[in-house]
Amino acid sequence: MAETNLQKPLPTITSEATPFWEGAAKQKLLMQRCLDCSAYIWTPRPSCFECGSENIHWQELSGQGQVYSFTVIRQVVGRAASQAFEKDIPYVIAWIDLDEGPRMITNVIGCPVENVKLGMKVSVIFEQQSADIWLPKFKPVNS
Ligand SMILES: [Zn+2]
Repeated sequence: MAETNLQKPLPTITSEATPFWEGAAKQKLLMQRCLDCSAYIWTPRPSCFECGSENIHWQELSGQGQVYSFTVIRQVVGRAASQAFEKDIPYVIAWIDLDEGPRMITNVIGCPVENVKLGMKVSVIFEQQSADIWLPKFKPVNS
């Protein structure tokens, strides 16, 4: 892992999200689901945003999905924090529709940015950013 990666701002592990990060460290994509109305809950929170129930649990997802929308980042400006991403340019920020239904914002990696297409099938891959943080990103299926 290049040292410059350590300069990127990393997510703070909140108590609500602890199971998510523990799963990610084991290469598992976990998401909360409401046991009363079956809604998937993203991002992690103490209660269901659909029905308010606190009767929620963690469920492992397939990690499969497709690109709903994306943008290619070719320039970073402004804040010092964003400069840490400069070496990654160009890179893709995408909304991924997971096979189970929920939508995540993430990066598509593992292929040239020109190859990213709407509806492209992708699967999750976890990139280690620190001792505790593995970020879920997505790569094309069959690449
Ligand atoms: Zn609910």
